[in-house]
Order: sequence, then C-alpha cells, then structure tokens
Amino acid sequence: MNDIEILQEYIDEASNIVFFGGAGVSTESGIKDFRSVDGLYNEVYDYPPERILSHSFFMENTKEFYKFYRDKLNCLDVEPNVTHKFLKELEDCGKLKAIITQNIDGLHEKAGSKNVLLLHGTTYRNYCMDCNKFYDAEYVFNSEDIPRCSCGGIIKPDVVLYEEPLDELVCYNAIKAISECDLLIIAGTSLNVYPAASYIHYFRGKHLVIINKDSTSFDSRADLVIHDKMGNIFKNLKSTNN
Ligand SMILES: [Zn+2]
Repeated sequence: MNDIEILQEYIDEASNIVFFGGAGVSTESGIKDFRSVDGLYNEVYDYPPERILSHSFFMENTKEFYKFYRDKLNCLDVEPNVTHKFLKELEDCGKLKAIITQNIDGLHEKAGSKNVLLLHGTTYRNYCMDCNKFYDAEYVFNSEDIPRCSCGGIIKPDVVLYEEPLDELVCYNAIKAISECDLLIIAGTSLNVYPAASYIHYFRGKHLVIINKDSTSFDSRADLVIHDKMGNIFKNLKSTNN
C-alpha cells in the first residue's frame, strides 16, 4: 500500500478524527507562511514581522501595525483549497470532530467547517477596545490608517499577537479533542511553534499522522509521515467508506 492508501484506511476505520493544521494548510490558497524560508519573515520591512505583530507594537505604533496588517494579512479574496474542502466533507459525514488551527485567515470557516478551534484567533473578528462593538474583516481591511469604532475607540483584531496569551477555553477544547480522538492528523506545521508540540502529548488514540513538506521533530513518533504538498494528498482521499 502507498501512503495515501494507508491514510485512507486510517480514515475509513476512525470514528473520531482531529485535524491539527499550521500555516502549510493555507499556503496552497496563496497565503504566505509566516515562518517558512520564503515567508513573511524574510521580507524587508522597517521592523521584523514578529515585532510588528506584537501587543506592545500595536499599542505604541497602531498606525504602522495596520499598514502591515492590511498589506500582508488581508485574506478577503483568498479561497479555501482542496484540503479545507476535504475537511469540511469529513466533518459533514460525522468523522471529523474538530479542526485545531494556528491560522487566522478564516479559510476553514469559509469552506463551511463548524468546529474550528482558533488557537491564534481570526482576522474575521474585530472589537472596539473601548465598547467591545464587533466589526467584520471587510470593515478593518478596507479602513484607512487606524480603524475606529462609531464611539471613537480603536478597533483591535481578535488575533493573538506576540506577548499575548492564548485563549484558555480554546486551549482546553483543543487538548480535550486531541485526548479523545482515535486519529490525529497534523499537517502543515513544523511543530516548532508553541503550543503545537506540547498538545501532541495528550494524544492517546490509535494513529498519529504527520503531513508536512519538511521533516519534524515528531516524525519518529508518528504511525505515518508524508512529506509532500498537502493538496497532492487530500485530493486523492475520500471522506466516506462508500
Ligand atoms: Zn466603540
């Protein structure tokens, strides 16, 4: 059997699948990977992206933050790819119980997935820092300078910036999902980013699968490791047995 046939067999026999995805899930939709060699971090900007995308930078240089944010993180015109669509089907047929993602581009929700645990938040939710009024992604990405609420307050994306803690409830639900699943598919992440690696220790299920372009430090623990582009794999899989 080849790798795809083995993964298909794992999916067919599983009844509780969890998918843990990183930046690699979105790159085939045209979203740049923050941490890859040709990603945002190697581009020339006045400050390194990890500085711009920090809480203190947002507070002190809000205008510059939004210049970068609109320029680099605008995902309004980006569409879900074959991986997002396959996961939506897998959830529809009852096998996939949760998607845990580090991505903030809203592509799983755009594909129609319901139980998406957003570890790093999403650009699709934005709130006034003074009155908590909600604003959508269109409002923020189409604004100029600093997006403001009708009350005059500054609007902040519901994205976990550097220096900010993750949402405890999201983390709890992610760990719970991982600890209860029988098949865990980790894809498109080098597993170097906190908390991805620490979560894997909660897995008690049958099969651990890692799909990533490059090798990861957890490859030796996986039942199946595939080093390939994600689309090449997910376009060949079926969500149901029939
Ligand atoms: Zn307000």
